[in-house]
Amino acid sequence: MTRVAAPTGKLTDLETAVLRCAAEGATIEATARQLGKSMPAVQDTRHRLMGKLGATSLVNAVHLAWQAGILRRERHGDHAGYAAHLYRREDPCDLCKAGERKYRNSRRKQTEEQAA
Ligand SMILES: [Zn+2]
Repeated sequence: MTRVAAPTGKLTDLETAVLRCAAEGATIEATARQLGKSMPAVQDTRHRLMGKLGATSLVNAVHLAWQAGILRRERHGDHAGYAAHLYRREDPCDLCKAGERKYRNSRRKQTEEQAA
């Protein structure tokens, strides 16, 4: 088992963006292109964010960041997520549409029970 340093410091916007790209499966090249950075800069950023998260690998960094809520600040799959899409003037994603349907069905059921 590898010893992992304790996490230190908050991720910068660039570190978060690089990590999000990694989580989505983007290569260093694709990440560099998407963020307008050089490939060495992306590699440096990956190493820096891994250090900050106390991660032993990039995969481990994605996992830790997910658990810490860094990669899921946007909520999906329920009424709150659905409402957030509308607030951002976006089309809700499929996950949120399904969550909203479930929410409305349960609300309808509640209303019917109260009326009975
Ligand atoms: Zn969504």
